[in-house]
Amino acid sequence: MIELKNISKIYDNNIVALENINLNIQEGELVVLKGVSGSGKSTILSLIAGLLKPSSGDVLVDNKHISKLPDHFCSDYRRDNIGFIFQKYNLIPTLSVQENILLPLVPLNLGEKELHVKLENVMNMFQIEHKKDVIVKNLSGGEQQRTAIARANVNNPKIILADEPTANLDEKLSKEFIKILHTLKNLKKTIIVATHDPLFFNLDFVDKTIELHNGKIICS
Ligand code: ADP
Ligand code: MG
Repeated sequence: MIELKNISKIYDNNIVALENINLNIQEGELVVLKGVSGSGKSTILSLIAGLLKPSSGDVLVDNKHISKLPDHFCSDYRRDNIGFIFQKYNLIPTLSVQENILLPLVPLNLGEKELHVKLENVMNMFQIEHKKDVIVKNLSGGEQQRTAIARANVNNPKIILADEPTANLDEKLSKEFIKILHTLKNLKKTIIVATHDPLFFNLDFVDKTIELHNGKIICS
């Protein structure tokens, strides 16, 4: 479903972030991308999200050449296919839970009824329905986490990309995140988690762990 073919990425400052990466991820797989800071993990996620173009090589998602799409189509592709889970939740603190969750749908001009169905669906799935009118800054850490994950899923994306999702979390919330990851896996999402948190390294529901070092795959 996701293929990286001979990918290299050299940033403008001549930093070689990725060198000849080949990667194949099947639909419904959960892949952990591990590696120390600077090894190229976020660059891989950005290439799959169509946020960056490779210097050479191809990124294919569902046999479509994401790396060759013009920018305008990249944002449509992202909106329809990708859910992003960020290290800091990137919620808008002064908006309510439901307003935050609905944000990714704003450009779609959906009818009230369809919006409502999508909203209720993810709020139930991630157990945040009872807080739907609460302003985000008044939520607990766990509730903010579930709101961010509900927002990443509101458009029912096939692919979930999580960049260092537990980097700012205490142990309890990190373990909560692992449970949510299991839920997403059961929903048949294709998931890539970039992390150096050992919590992810021996999970029985992870399909592949790929280790990066200096922009190269050293172990998969
Ligand atoms: P990781 O997510 O594993 O920490 P990154 O993909 O962010 O690694 O970075 C890989 C390398 O590319 C690092 O050396 C980093 O400094 C460099 N890099 C990342 N983003 C940029 C950028 N926008 N411009 C220049 N260099 C960058
Ligand atoms: Mg990173």
